[in-house]
Amino acid sequence: MSTTREEHLSPEQVARLQEAAWAEAYRYAFDRSPFYREHLSRAGLTATDRPPLGELGRIPPIDKSILSEHNEAFLCVPRRKVVDVVTTSGSTGHPLVYLLTERDLRRLALNEYHSFRCAGLSRSDTVLLAVTLDRCFIAGMAYFLGLRRLGCAVARVGPATPVMHLDLLRRVQATAIVGVPSFLGLVADQAAETGVDLAGLSVRKAICIGEPIRNKDLTLNRAGTAIEQRWNAKPLSTYGITELASSLCECDAGRGGHLHPELLYLEALDEDGGPVQDGGVGELTATTFGVEAMPLIRYRTGDFAAIHRQPCACGRCGLRVGPIVGRKGHKLKVKGTTIFPATLQAVLDTVPEVASFVILARREGDLSDAVEVRLACRADPARVLALLRERFRGEAKVTPQLTLASPAEIEALQMPEGARKRRHFVDLRS
Ligand SMILES: [Zn+2]
Repeated sequence: MSTTREEHLSPEQVARLQEAAWAEAYRYAFDRSPFYREHLSRAGLTATDRPPLGELGRIPPIDKSILSEHNEAFLCVPRRKVVDVVTTSGSTGHPLVYLLTERDLRRLALNEYHSFRCAGLSRSDTVLLAVTLDRCFIAGMAYFLGLRRLGCAVARVGPATPVMHLDLLRRVQATAIVGVPSFLGLVADQAAETGVDLAGLSVRKAICIGEPIRNKDLTLNRAGTAIEQRWNAKPLSTYGITELASSLCECDAGRGGHLHPELLYLEALDEDGGPVQDGGVGELTATTFGVEAMPLIRYRTGDFAAIHRQPCACGRCGLRVGPIVGRKGHKLKVKGTTIFPATLQAVLDTVPEVASFVILARREGDLSDAVEVRLACRADPARVLALLRERFRGEAKVTPQLTLASPAEIEALQMPEGARKRRHFVDLRS
């Protein structure tokens, strides 16, 4: 397979490329974005006084609430240039509309082209897309555009049943699948129930979205290991966020998602907006490059992860992002301890006897949340609950209330009617 430029850039070339892309993005935002013209001016900046990337701290970050509130003021083009309308779910309480031009769709395709190349896919692959393509979602469309650019054969199965996925991946001899880890687990269950040897089929890569497949130290977690064993396929994680029209996908080394330097700049910030040291967990804060309709500068994504900067085994020298360890709006306060549901989930994932679960949070008082885990067990429940209590105390410093439930009850909580995504955390605090 031929290589692309980004695989051969030195750290200095990456830095130069990003600085040049930033200069263009800054000038464009000043010229075209009603929101940023005012935002940057208020920070005392002018069209010609651009802080270098190392001094981005001079520009106050914004978040989804600001983007949602001033949605139209972020649009840099006349409405007639808009060709695609994307909406984001209101998981943080701030639904918004994200608009794309023809050029933005090409940029989106380029981003996913780089991402899937990172994952080692080529034009000889046949890829099953187990991702929603409609409902104003960006992800499924982005994957399709990127795979098409790469020249893969794509089967757009979408949110169909595990039976249909299993049937199709045998018929078309798919070599890769893009989907949510827990759904890939359901397909594997279906294969086991019907006597299909999933590991003996042709799928060699599982591109995982929406749920972590790695621990903080980048080793595979339970979900990642299960995919590797049951599918006999390499699980690779891809992280994307709608408002950035960008994604970061892992290469075969599986050491975190690679940033595509000409498309995005990333920082990890602490609660006060200061930089977090490489390897430490902070809120991912992004500046988009080359976006025409709704470019963003220092956008706090609400996702918490660690940034790694050592060059990767694959030769890419841009930064990498570890697994998402939590979402800002999901932060829980339990008896004086702050914790993310993902930490509780990681503990639940270490106990194979837990068949399925959902984490529920309720407001208990002004400063405290009540957290309950509803779970279905594969083995003696008393033993499983005792083991879980011990692990929660040791690893999460918090022991949630544990309640047994039927698999059907948990399925209904994870996928309520009309839901676009499966959820393991239900926030009942607001
Ligand atoms: Zn790599």
